[in-house]
Amino acid sequence: MAIYREDLQNEIEDVVLDKTVSKIKRQNLSTILKIQQGILRAVDDFMYKNGVVRMMPLMIAPVTDTLNHDVEETSITYQNQNFDVMKSMIFHKQLTLMNEGLEKIYIVSPNIRLERAERGDSRHLFEFTQIDFEFKNANMDDILTFIESLVSYIFSEVKEKYAKEIEEIAGSTEHLNITTPFLRYDTKDLEKLHGPDFEGIASRQATQPFFLTNHKREFYDAEDLNNRGNYRNYDLIWPRGYVEGLSGGEREYLYERIIERMDELNSDKHRFRSYLKLAKDGLIPKTAGAGLGVERMTRFVCQLPEVDAVTVFVRKPGEGPYLF
Ligand code: ASP
Ligand code: MG
Repeated sequence: MAIYREDLQNEIEDVVLDKTVSKIKRQNLSTILKIQQGILRAVDDFMYKNGVVRMMPLMIAPVTDTLNHDVEETSITYQNQNFDVMKSMIFHKQLTLMNEGLEKIYIVSPNIRLERAERGDSRHLFEFTQIDFEFKNANMDDILTFIESLVSYIFSEVKEKYAKEIEEIAGSTEHLNITTPFLRYDTKDLEKLHGPDFEGIASRQATQPFFLTNHKREFYDAEDLNNRGNYRNYDLIWPRGYVEGLSGGEREYLYERIIERMDELNSDKHRFRSYLKLAKDGLIPKTAGAGLGVERMTRFVCQLPEVDAVTVFVRKPGEGPYLF
């Protein structure tokens, strides 16, 4: 007997619905969410103590992060104008620091990146939240030191307040015993040593978080003018194979430099015309910052096999149909 398309679709949806219900009802979810809440509490606490002012997230904008990889297009029309969903608040956090009363800001920022199905791996979600921060007149060293203190504070807080929960889910809290400063590696050196999968290999070999500096990527990340072809940006890599947890950089803020980088990367200048006008008027402040993935950090703290294991609803690319 022929199976009709609709019957098949119904059957698939029933299977997915069962999986959705099992995911919500899974036994460790409450523990994971409690630990994640502990992480966010520690972040807010640390930012407050260090004078980092919180601003609210934006969800749509005419310009957003260019990203250094391809995602599915999203476009929302609002009052005859094209908006994109927020991929990251990079430009908004830079511009916010134009305000003379603000030196350091952060946002608990939901970001949407409609990753292609091939990115249905252990580290990507098509929407996630990052702790996105930006400091005026800061350089790479300032930010790396800040990240070391932030991560140390979060881990010591969750170890103190959630030891039982973490042991229950991760088997131990040993992976949270970290020492600073974290080692810093240049991507070029590690690539020479390990080949194209240098990040994964180095992460699997490491027992402590480390920084990977010098990535050729978006136009807004500053080139090292004393060492052309090198970049003053960085990722924080979680050890034990948990890979990238944060990205950031010193920013280009001078008009000529932004134009040069946009030319190199073939960026759409028309799209960024208002940003470029501000740059031309010298209104983009000199800043540096970073974004720390919340779900990825929760995954590391809980030592789970994939980042989708910390979410209530499936947000892994390539796993459709998605019912909720
Ligand atoms: N734009 C980066 C990201 O979302 C974060 C940053 O550079 O501050 O990956
Ligand atoms: Mg990144």
